[in-house]
Amino acid sequence: DAYLSAIDRANPALNAYVAVTGDKARDMAKASDARLVKGEGGALEGIPLGIKDLFGTDGVHTQACSHVLDGFKPRYESTVTANLWADGAVMLGKLNMDEFAMGSSNESSYYGPVINPWRRSRLDTVVMPTTHQGDGGFVSAGGTKTQRTLDNAQLVPGGSSGGSATAVSAFLCAGATATDTGGSIRQPAAFTGTVGIKPTYGRCSRWGIVAFASSLDQAGPIARDVRDAAILLKSMASVDPKDTTSVDRLVPDYEAAIGKPIKGMKVGIPKEYRVDGMPEEIEALWQKGIAWLRDAGAEIVDISLPHTKYALPAYYIVAPAEASSNLARYDGVRYGLRVPGKDIVEMYEKTRAAGFGREVKRRIMIGTYVLSAGYYDAYYLQAQKVRNLIKRDFENVFAAGIDVILTPATPSAAFGIADEDMAADPVKMYLNDIFTVTVNMAGLPGIAVPAGLDPKGLPLGLQLIGRPFEEETLFQTAAVIE
Ligand code: GLN
Repeated sequence: DAYLSAIDRANPALNAYVAVTGDKARDMAKASDARLVKGEGGALEGIPLGIKDLFGTDGVHTQACSHVLDGFKPRYESTVTANLWADGAVMLGKLNMDEFAMGSSNESSYYGPVINPWRRSRLDTVVMPTTHQGDGGFVSAGGTKTQRTLDNAQLVPGGSSGGSATAVSAFLCAGATATDTGGSIRQPAAFTGTVGIKPTYGRCSRWGIVAFASSLDQAGPIARDVRDAAILLKSMASVDPKDTTSVDRLVPDYEAAIGKPIKGMKVGIPKEYRVDGMPEEIEALWQKGIAWLRDAGAEIVDISLPHTKYALPAYYIVAPAEASSNLARYDGVRYGLRVPGKDIVEMYEKTRAAGFGREVKRRIMIGTYVLSAGYYDAYYLQAQKVRNLIKRDFENVFAAGIDVILTPATPSAAFGIADEDMAADPVKMYLNDIFTVTVNMAGLPGIAVPAGLDPKGLPLGLQLIGRPFEEETLFQTAAVIE
C-alpha cells in the first residue's frame, strides 16, 4: 500500500509507470502473507517490484512502450518474471521505457518521456539572519542559513530502462526488472544513482521478453544497492528449455560474495576508454574508483582493449539488423494495432507507418539495408567479424590474469530532456553507450554502481566488467565501491 500510494503521488510527475496493477499487487501480497504465516516463504516473499514493459506478463499490459502493440496483453508470463513470482515477489505494474528498448534517454516511448527524479543543484551558502527564514532552506547550528538552489530543468533518466531506474531511484518500487542490449540497464542506473547489472549472455532466459537484438539482449535487475541487485539476479537467473541460448550452470548465491575481501584481485584499467573530450569529473571519478580498489588491496593493471573504438559502429549494424528481423512480426495481423487498408499490403504499410515511432523506423531501415543482398558482406558480416575481435580483446586480458575491468559507466551525467544536440544528431545519442556496448558485443557481465556526484550534484556511476559467468566477482568488487 505504501508503494502504491507513493506511485499515485509521484507518477504523474515522473511518468515511470505505464500501467499500475494495484489489485493484482494486493492479491499477490495477501498470498505472500499466507505463505509466510505457514512458514513457506520464498527468497523475495512480499517484495514489491516494477517490471519493464518489455517483459511479457500474463493478462497485463505488455507493449514495449510502442503504439504498434496497442492493447496487447499476452497469455503467457516471461520466464524471468515467472521466476520472481515463484520466489514470492509482488508486481506493482509495468514500467516505461524507450520504444522496443531503442534509445538512451527514454524519450522514444509512445507514453512520453520519463523524468529523472534528480535535479541539478548549486550549493550556495548564504549567510543571513536566522529571523529571516525563506522557503527551501534550513537553519544551521551557527544561526546562518544554507540555501540549496535547484536548477529546475528536467533531466532524462537514461534509457532504455528509464522507467525502471526512475522507479527504483524515487522509491516507487523496491527493485525493478530491466534489459540491456547495449547499455540499457547500466546507463540509466548510472544516471539515477542506482545499481544495475547486465549478467552474462545466457544467464537469464529471454523467453517471453519482447526481442530487440536477440544475440545481445539480456535481462537484469536495477536495485537501490549492490546487495538488492545480487538477491534479485539470483531469482531472475535460470536455465530454460524455452530459450536455447540460456545456459545450464548453477546460479550461485550472489549475496554471499558481498563483503569478501578483494585483496590481490587484478583490476584492469583499459587505456582505450580514456576517450577524447571526456569530462574532467568522469576522469576524476575513475581515478577515485581506482584509489578505492587499490586501498582495498587490489592490484591495478593498465590494459589494452585495442578494438574498443569499433564497438559502437559495429553495434549499430548488428543491433538494427537483428531488430529489423525481429520487428517484422508486427504486421497488424497477430498483435495490437491494425490500421485497415484496401488490401493486405496496404494494411501492413499503414499499420507499420502508424505503429512505429521515428527511432524504431530508423533502426528498421538501417537493419534492412545492412542485411540486403549486396550489402550483407560489406556491413553485417564485417560487423560480426569486428564483434569477434572485440570479444578476443577481452579474452586476452582475462587470460593474462585480469579478474575485473574498471571503467566509467557513462561519458557524462544525466542530460536535459529534449537536448537539442541529441535530437538533431542521433549519433550523439548513440555515444552515450560508448563504455557499455562492448560488454554486450562480448556477451560479458557488467555492473554499474553509483560512485559519487558531479559538481552539479548529479549521480555518476562506475562500471565493472567481469569474466563470463563471474557475476560474483562484480558484486564483490562493486560492494567495495558502493
Ligand atoms: N541505447 C542503445 C540503443 O539504443 C541500447 C539500448 C538497449 O540496451 N536496449 O540501441
